[in-house]
Amino acid sequence: SREWQLVARPHGWPTKDLVALREVPVAEPADGHILVRNTHFSVDPYMRGRMSAAKSYAAPYELDRPMHGGAVGEVIASRAEGFAVGDTVTHGLGWREIAEVPAGEARKIDTSLAPASAYLGVLGMIGLTAYAGLFRVAGFKEGDAVFVSGAAGAVGGLVGQMARLKGASRVIGSAGSDAKVERLLQGYGFDAAFNYKNGPVAAQLAEAAPDGIDVYFDNVGGEHLEAALGAFNDLGRAALCGAISVYNATEPTPGPNNLTLAVTKRLRLQGFIVTDHLDLLPDFVRDTAGWLASGELVHDETVVEGIENGFDAFLGVLRGDNTGKMIVSLTG
Ligand code: NDP
Repeated sequence: SREWQLVARPHGWPTKDLVALREVPVAEPADGHILVRNTHFSVDPYMRGRMSAAKSYAAPYELDRPMHGGAVGEVIASRAEGFAVGDTVTHGLGWREIAEVPAGEARKIDTSLAPASAYLGVLGMIGLTAYAGLFRVAGFKEGDAVFVSGAAGAVGGLVGQMARLKGASRVIGSAGSDAKVERLLQGYGFDAAFNYKNGPVAAQLAEAAPDGIDVYFDNVGGEHLEAALGAFNDLGRAALCGAISVYNATEPTPGPNNLTLAVTKRLRLQGFIVTDHLDLLPDFVRDTAGWLASGELVHDETVVEGIENGFDAFLGVLRGDNTGKMIVSLTG
């Protein structure tokens, strides 16, 4: 079985020489473990952080060891109660063809609701990130005008649609290509959207949100956060979810130059990590399954075929090759 291992740590943009696709033997699962043939694994921006040695909320990847991340697959051997050969499961040992997973770290999934890969996106941690960030962290309420950056990405596309479904007065998104902007307007029902590469974010946001914004869901940081501070109405709330514009920076990046607006506008800016909000899972699954069943919630996937293309898929997510969730498929 093949797996991706980290062999050196990045400085700046990651490159292919930092990783190796290695062949490893497959053993019978240990007592209490299952063996899973992965059908799909997730590549995500936060993995850039795990390639570095710096302490963060997710442990750094170890050198010459397999990388980790979300995956779904089929049980091919089981020495654990409650799991049988043929079950479809989700777990955290992605980046490899076959995973030996402790039963406590695997969860059976219901593929009648959606295909297995959806549990890496809309029905998994990605969906919960959007849900918890918007409804709890940002304290969204009906009538709010919502701005989300990275809006054509996995989390961002769901944030905008969830805001619309819960009665936002206006949903505004930014993304990195004209085709993505078109998708936001025509596919996801955003009221306004712009390509941040076409001009200064502040000017484009002012035009897209003439009455200001009440909620900002930040996936990007940097210039986007500064622009949102400028566009906020009084008592605005920002959920700080990520800052992908600085993940590959090699020098400290300047903060927003207008942070004093937080005082004068009485803003609340709150960072969050999705795993602190697992108590919302039942509400999230109920709402999201309903929206999927009714067809009101659209979720795109960008699928890269083949484990050998897994690291390119990861680089692609950092560059913006994806619309919706970037997924590596091992079924071909
Ligand atoms: P996405 O699917 O949104 O993929 C990342 C996207 O970021 C790319 O598609 C690209 O789209 C955009 N991007 C890349 N560089 C820049 C840049 N310099 N400026 C603006 N946009 C850029 O990934 P996810 O949905 O998985 O994650 C979105 C954010 O949420 C990330 O910041 C991630 O770290 C964070 N996150 C945080 C969690 C938490 O618990 N706090 C949990 C999960 C994710 P484009 O073409 O538009 O540039």
